[in-house]
Amino acid sequence: MEETAIELRGIHKRFGDLEVIKGIDLTARRGEVVALIGASGSGKSTLLRCVNLLERPDAGQILFNGESIDLRAGRDGTLRPAHHDQITRVRAGIGFVFQNFNLWPHMNVLENVIEAPIHVSGLSRRQAVAEAEHLLEKVGLGDKKNAYPAFLSGGQQQRAAIARTLAMKPAVILFDEPTSALDPELVGEVLGVIRQLAEEGRTLLIVTHEMRFARDVAHRVVFLDAGRIEEQGPPSEVFGRPRSERCRAFLATHLSEDEGVTLS
Ligand code: ADP
Ligand code: MG
Repeated sequence: MEETAIELRGIHKRFGDLEVIKGIDLTARRGEVVALIGASGSGKSTLLRCVNLLERPDAGQILFNGESIDLRAGRDGTLRPAHHDQITRVRAGIGFVFQNFNLWPHMNVLENVIEAPIHVSGLSRRQAVAEAEHLLEKVGLGDKKNAYPAFLSGGQQQRAAIARTLAMKPAVILFDEPTSALDPELVGEVLGVIRQLAEEGRTLLIVTHEMRFARDVAHRVVFLDAGRIEEQGPPSEVFGRPRSERCRAFLATHLSEDEGVTLS
C-alpha cells in the first residue's frame, strides 16, 4: 500500500447559505505533486485551507500521514481540532505558502525564516540561523538575508516565504496561487524553486493558474468545479483528453492565456 501524506474524506464547507465544498475526497501520496485547478470561486482556496484547518469544515475527515485529526463540532456546527497538541504538531508538518507572501514586515528575511524554528520547534538560535542560511542559498537569496520585505521584489518575497516554510521541515507543502500576485517577469523564478522542491520528491498540493507548470510538474491534476472534483488524472489525460465538458471549457480559456500548452 502506498503511503498517503494527506487524505481528505467527505469534506463539506459552507459559508452561511453558500455551500462552497460539496463533499470532496482527495488524497496526496508521499512524494506526489498534486495541482488543483479550477475557475475563480470554485473552492480551491477553501479546500486547501481545510487541510490544515485554517478553515473549519462542516463535515468530513482529515488524515495526515495516516493519522486522523480528531475533530469536534463547535457551537456553530463547524468542526475544530479536539486536541491542541495534535493540531499544533500536524500544522508544523504542513507548510502553507500564501498568494501574498505574508512575511512579517518588521523582520528581515533571516528573522522571518528563524522565527518558527526557534519559537515552535525549539531550535537554538545558532542552529536556526545555520539552517536558514542554507535555505536562503537554496532559494537564491543568500545575499538578501538582512533585507526587509519591503525592499524585495515580489518574487524575492515569495522565495523568502518558501524558505520560511521549508525551515519547519514540513512533510507536505500547500501552495495557494503562489505566483498570481507577481509581475509576469517574476513568475518564473518562483516556479523554478517549486519545481526544485518537486524534483526532490516532496509532497506538494498546489493551487495554480499556471497550466504549463501544472502539466510539467504535477503528477496529478485535479479540476474543481463549484465545490466538487469534476475531473482528475495525470496531466497528460486532464490536459490532453479532458472527459468532462466543464473541464474542457475551462482549459479552452486558460490554455489560450498560457501559450505553450496546446490541447491535442
Ligand atoms: P477559489 O480559491 O477557487 O477562487 P474560494 O475557496 O476562495 O475559491 O471561494 C469559494 C467561494 O466561497 C466563493 O464564492 C467565495 O466568495 C466564498 N468564500 C470564500 N471564503 C469566504 C468567507 N470567509 N466567507 C464567505 N464566503 C467565502
Ligand atoms: Mg483562491
